[in-house]
Amino acid sequence: MSDRFVRVALPLPLADSYTYRVPEALAGRAAAGARVVVPVRRREMIGIIVGEDAEAPSVAAKDLLGAPDDEAAIPAALLETANWIAGYYGAPIGLTLRCMLPAGMWGSSSVVARLIAADRAPAGLGGEVAAWLAARGGEGNVATAARALRRPLWDVIGRMVETGGLALTVVPADVGGDVRSERVVTLPDDRPTLLERDTLFKRRPRQRALYEALEALGGRAPVEHLVDQLGFGDALIRSLAAHGLAQVERVERLRDPFAGFPATPPPPHLTGDQAAALHAITSLPPGTGALLFGVTGSGKTLVYLEAVRRVLAAGGGAIVLVPEIGLTPQTVSRFRGAFGDQVAVLHSGLSDGERADAWRLLRRGERRVAVGARSAIFAPVADLGIIVVDEEHEASYKNGESPRYNTRDVAAVRARLEGSRLILGSATPSIETMARAGTSLTLLELPERIGERPMPPVELIDLRIAPKVPGIGPLAWSVTLDEAITRCLARGEQALLMLNRRGFAAFLQCPDCGEVWQCPRCSISLTVHQSPPALRCHYCNHEEPMPLTCRKCANPVHAMRGVGTQQLEQIVAERYPAARIARMDLDTTSTKWSHQRILGSVERREIDILIGTQMIAKGLDFPDVTLVGVVEADTGLHLPDFRAAERTFQLLAQVAGRAGRGPKGGRVLVQTRNPSHHALVWAARHDTESFLREELTHRQEPAYPPEVALVNLIVSGTVEPAVSGAAASLADWCNALVGRHELPLVVLGPAPCPLVRIKDRWRWHVLLKGPSADIGRMVRYAARRLRRRGDVSYVIDRDPVSVL
Ligand code: ADP
Ligand code: ZN
Repeated sequence: MSDRFVRVALPLPLADSYTYRVPEALAGRAAAGARVVVPVRRREMIGIIVGEDAEAPSVAAKDLLGAPDDEAAIPAALLETANWIAGYYGAPIGLTLRCMLPAGMWGSSSVVARLIAADRAPAGLGGEVAAWLAARGGEGNVATAARALRRPLWDVIGRMVETGGLALTVVPADVGGDVRSERVVTLPDDRPTLLERDTLFKRRPRQRALYEALEALGGRAPVEHLVDQLGFGDALIRSLAAHGLAQVERVERLRDPFAGFPATPPPPHLTGDQAAALHAITSLPPGTGALLFGVTGSGKTLVYLEAVRRVLAAGGGAIVLVPEIGLTPQTVSRFRGAFGDQVAVLHSGLSDGERADAWRLLRRGERRVAVGARSAIFAPVADLGIIVVDEEHEASYKNGESPRYNTRDVAAVRARLEGSRLILGSATPSIETMARAGTSLTLLELPERIGERPMPPVELIDLRIAPKVPGIGPLAWSVTLDEAITRCLARGEQALLMLNRRGFAAFLQCPDCGEVWQCPRCSISLTVHQSPPALRCHYCNHEEPMPLTCRKCANPVHAMRGVGTQQLEQIVAERYPAARIARMDLDTTSTKWSHQRILGSVERREIDILIGTQMIAKGLDFPDVTLVGVVEADTGLHLPDFRAAERTFQLLAQVAGRAGRGPKGGRVLVQTRNPSHHALVWAARHDTESFLREELTHRQEPAYPPEVALVNLIVSGTVEPAVSGAAASLADWCNALVGRHELPLVVLGPAPCPLVRIKDRWRWHVLLKGPSADIGRMVRYAARRLRRRGDVSYVIDRDPVSVL
């Protein structure tokens, strides 16, 4: 018989896959997606088989040592998704799988052997292993055993597994976490019919209500959830169990940072628009998707909930993606409120062990709904029926490191591979998604707010001419905004103040007419450089001298940088001394669950004014927020990025959507020096479609997505000339390839990145534009060629969401 070889991926940086020989004993278990123990240099690691029947390598391949999985850890569709990601984004498969499978489940985790049938213990080494395990309560680490018995054990362990004497599991290096237990109520599988129920619960309507609530929760719920959230008594639960209609048992519980957030029960009735959207979703052909385009406050969450409920009722599972889990405790608790114990919330606070637990529960179908940010798209949900991507336009869906995947696009691929339905929801869809609506995506609309509440009126305050409160310091503080805050506080209502400051690159603006200097070729803002003084384009490296006066109105111009949120908080605290103020930005939210704490106190009305960056713009539903103030709307407008207008529009429309969600109504005040910019004009009218239509015309000449596809190739290193030199040869190489293969691509640069230095590393880039298929070709070439050389490293960012 000829030898069989497999390709194995390991969670190592830069590594692709390695080829190993499959020994006879492991032939049955060495399947694609299975975990295997392999020798790597002088140690043993757990890898994943990514390809069966690989070709024999030119140098002698080592043997697989062990294969702990009875059933492949990575299901076929997920493995195929991983292969797509690695190919499309030009990333090593090992890194891709590292995003997918929790760290505790492979790599340097260890394999534990458990004795199943001690009496069938073989003689020789097998007997020694069995005795060693028996002396440790029947269970032990294979590596420890090998050290203790001073012999390689994998062969004999493989045979013992084969004959059913041992079972293997993989355990994370850290098995920490404070594991507490909780009581859970379960219904038996065969349920009485409605008619039988009438007799069964004749004089016990409360028991019936409890019974049916449990049924709605999938037949299983923690006692705590039933008591605290749904208001059933402990005695009632006991009597249901006493009648043999339910079982109460004690199980381990995962730590839960969302526990303190109230789980709101969903509204009982769908509006007509919601019902129509739901109907359309349930009739989508499997594997296809829809854009749920609903204004802020239109009740998109309830549509997701009901769509998920139907999938669960049909025995399927769901993935619900939110942009940043810490910022969306309300969405999380709505899902928890509706589906209780069936939900696994995947968040950054989980330990490796807890993450591995959640993975197993989902894989076995014991949890059916995965809720989380980015990486939750890889949850091994069984019978995946639906994937929801809430706020699909959010930049945080793009992974910031290799593989630089966009969760939304991976979701579409996975939905197609698994035959699931995909729902992309947003009040401000991305221009790419909108371009697909009506063709590859079904367009569903929720044009009105719930309860026919009007959208809040938005006033643009022109900072160039508006009367200002004197003596506020460096900040422009209009009398209109000031008075609105005072009145809001006097009425005992809440205000949000947003200042989204990314003041790293100064641009040049005329304080009188608002004119901003842009690159004539790339239509992005030029960046001010001090030494030597010049304006420079960070896409194509165009340079021009610094002007002294405005080319439009002849007034002196100056470089803009500006005030941040911290200074704003001080100013506001001095101006409104009686107000209770909280600030939410990167600095105040660095500790675990600080988002929840801050948002929780706003929800409980302990805060009058919440100040923040774009963090406060997202998804929050606080009915007493009647005033939203945008302190400076232009901060993002002049970033040297082709998405600057789109981002500004989305941010303004989203933050405006936080106002007037309750019966008291609300208003939005936006301070700006560009009141006639299309991002501001359409945001003020809550008109996403008109904005996108106009923005699309700006993406044609010069061409940007969705007109063309992009890949950004970034070079970085600690020595500037080395970086700029490498960037120049990269551009030469791109130009040569484009010429040789006659690819319809434009090569821009090399140029310094707008963020030219991050953490002591200089950054330069080359930007390629053109049809997606040709960009894909370049990505494949680049993935093969661009390897770190000494200190200089490369990044391939396909479909970048920002080119800063
Ligand atoms: P969106 O996500 O579209 O901005 P939400 O889903 O947060 O909107 O819904 C806005 C508010 O309307 C929430 O407080 C929600 O509970 C409420 N709501 C949604 N659907 C209904 C309904 N059918 N009946 C009553 N209230 C509803
Ligand atoms: Zn340019």
